[in-house]
Amino acid sequence: MLPWVVRRTRLPLLSSRCVACRSESATTGEGRFRVNANGKLLDVWLLVRCVSCDRTAKLTVRERTPVGSFDPAELRGYRVNDPELVASTLLDPLFARRNRFTLDWTGAWRLDTPPVWHDETWPVQVEVVFDDPVPVRPERLIAQGLGLSRNQVLRRIKCDIPLRRTTSTGFTFTVMAGD
Ligand SMILES: [Zn+2]
Repeated sequence: MLPWVVRRTRLPLLSSRCVACRSESATTGEGRFRVNANGKLLDVWLLVRCVSCDRTAKLTVRERTPVGSFDPAELRGYRVNDPELVASTLLDPLFARRNRFTLDWTGAWRLDTPPVWHDETWPVQVEVVFDDPVPVRPERLIAQGLGLSRNQVLRRIKCDIPLRRTTSTGFTFTVMAGD
């Protein structure tokens, strides 16, 4: 089984409408949280910036949450803008839904494939693993990874999941010998 890995090369942009300039793209930049204490309650936001006008917006991570209910390591992560925590927060589907944005993965990921096989006997099995939840169309990913046309993909690939439906969970497929 040949491994293919989908991974991000940077954080994706956010598709959400800027209230100032109506642009629909925002970035986390270097990634900054803001933590605000109100008595024993904490608010945590992730700051994002409009890519057109630089206006900063605050996206709610935690709202009026008792200090004691935070994992200390997590709270420290918010205070020091831990890049891993920025990434896991941004990629959390619940966070996206609550703050009404979608992720724009254009140019923010790559597909790592092993060197082209020469001595393999057909058919060849490939396992696609997602290091990050990048939404891809299997049909396109396979065409890109194998250097095949979309028609060749439809002819030579056997796959248990629909090739045209976007996915970001791992799958396997089989490449049949060419003509
Ligand atoms: Zn703007």
